Amino acid sequence: MNYEQLLDRAFKQLPNLSEEKSDFKIPEADALVQGSRTIVRNLAQIADVARRDKDEIAKYLTKELAAPVSIDNQSLIIMARIQTGTLNEKIKRYFELYIVCKECHKPDTHVQSVARGYTTIVCEACGAKYTVKNS
Ligand SMILES: [Zn+2]
Repeated sequence: MNYEQLLDRAFKQLPNLSEEKSDFKIPEADALVQGSRTIVRNLAQIADVARRDKDEIAKYLTKELAAPVSIDNQSLIIMARIQTGTLNEKIKRYFELYIVCKECHKPDTHVQSVARGYTTIVCEACGAKYTVKNS
């Protein structure tokens, strides 16, 4: 085996980074409309994936959807009829803004501080630190 073949083989054995990334998926809302309310049945699961408090996600959604919400155990109750597609767009945006690291695209971040309308986010995977303007 010559050098180039060895190199080729070494490359093939490297873990595929883009494949590793796809392990993480932004969760989708398991929602249903009941009368004039929308119930997101998997709020706890979404919070789990985000590693944030249910309250924090509820606060974001109430602002984005301009509707009052309450938390009932594992679920989020929105006092409005919201389409699941709209909900998923908001959740996706939340993850892109506050959860997924801007540098390494991993979801291993936590909020360091919230001040003057900005949230400071720290990535535990790569150490990146950045601020996001609160909507
Ligand atoms: Zn990172």
